[in-house]
Amino acid sequence: MTDEHERLRFETDVPGIWGYWPATPTLWSYSSLKEMEACPRRWMLSRADYPDIWARRGYPSLPVTPAIFGNVVHGVIERLTRALTTAGVRSPAAGDVVGVLGSLGGWRGIVLDAVERELARFDDNPRVSTERVERVRSELVRRAPEAADQVKAFLGRGILPTGAASEPSGEGAATEAPRRRMPAGPGVHAERTVTAEALRVTGTIDQLVLDDTGVTVTDFKTGSEDDAHDEQVRLYALLWQLDKQTNPGGQPVTHLRVVYPSHERSVAVPDAAQMHALEVATAARVAGADQLTAAPPPPAAPSEETCHYCRVKHLCDAYWAAIPPSVSAASPAQWFDFEGTVLRPNGSRSWFVATPTDPAAEVLVRTVETDVPFPIGQRVRLLGVRRSQDPDKPGRLVISMVATSEWYPVVV
Ligand code: SF4
Repeated sequence: MTDEHERLRFETDVPGIWGYWPATPTLWSYSSLKEMEACPRRWMLSRADYPDIWARRGYPSLPVTPAIFGNVVHGVIERLTRALTTAGVRSPAAGDVVGVLGSLGGWRGIVLDAVERELARFDDNPRVSTERVERVRSELVRRAPEAADQVKAFLGRGILPTGAASEPSGEGAATEAPRRRMPAGPGVHAERTVTAEALRVTGTIDQLVLDDTGVTVTDFKTGSEDDAHDEQVRLYALLWQLDKQTNPGGQPVTHLRVVYPSHERSVAVPDAAQMHALEVATAARVAGADQLTAAPPPPAAPSEETCHYCRVKHLCDAYWAAIPPSVSAASPAQWFDFEGTVLRPNGSRSWFVATPTDPAAEVLVRTVETDVPFPIGQRVRLLGVRRSQDPDKPGRLVISMVATSEWYPVVV
């Protein structure tokens, strides 16, 4: 164990959960820079190593169905694109696509296969039970026709097919060294990685087209419209321009577009001065992110929006001090998180817990399982709970845990 490694070791408020802060990445991606800027602590805690929890990098994540649904749609498009390329299909004519689809099990077969690929990521995840994965699977299977419809909508917008072999994506791999990239020739390229080595930023363009009209960069989105999508494709235009391997001829981008299942929109291509300003601003963002990773512990930036889907909130003291509502203010229709001190059991499935307020109030916490080993006298954090009503005592504050709720003892 080197001194440097030990310097990166950190403890958390949860006994038994400790880790090593991640190193500064060799390359940043659009999403990693954005996440780092939203909350440096979330980015660092999410990507740290936790050797006592599992052998994989980062803190185990929870399945978020809308995010997995988006990945399924992207996965189907990517697989279909490759299959069409292999089959030599050059236009999205219905007959050709149907033939290739049949070999992949039809729309339902290809979607369900993508669902299984996504869910396989949770196979060795110590935080996610088999039952929880099963619930997510049921929801995704129910939405399989919707996923197929979205892919068909993209198909209708010319997202498919490709005329060139695709390179593997590098977007999520913010810490990897740059890979050797082949020049992009005339044609349609799916999932094309572009990297500005000097800037240390990489990205994966969903669709890159080089033809008589110029160079078109397209990103497709399964969610709702967001100005950040425009920012993302502008950054891809910069990366394309600076990538001497993928774009050795220095061809400028002529069209930028963001495609949604229901419509698409053009984004103005930055002119030379705007491109230079974007390069300078991106270099500053990278320098800022580097500085934060080089000097842990990272600062927290709690806000309701940022913390909502944070997978490491139970490890973050800043969150608990600022965001969760008091039990009395929580609506019964709202999921919320709660921190309190365990007082005594009330039965095999309920406990009295004191709120952290001054003065403290007594809350009844109902659990799903029997004899949950809550440590008496210790602080606990409950994630994903609901306020509910006690029919016998309408004035009593009651918190109900559900099958997906989590709890962690904490030392504060
Ligand atoms: S809980 Fe909020 S403040 Fe804490 S790490 Fe997560 S996003 Fe950041």
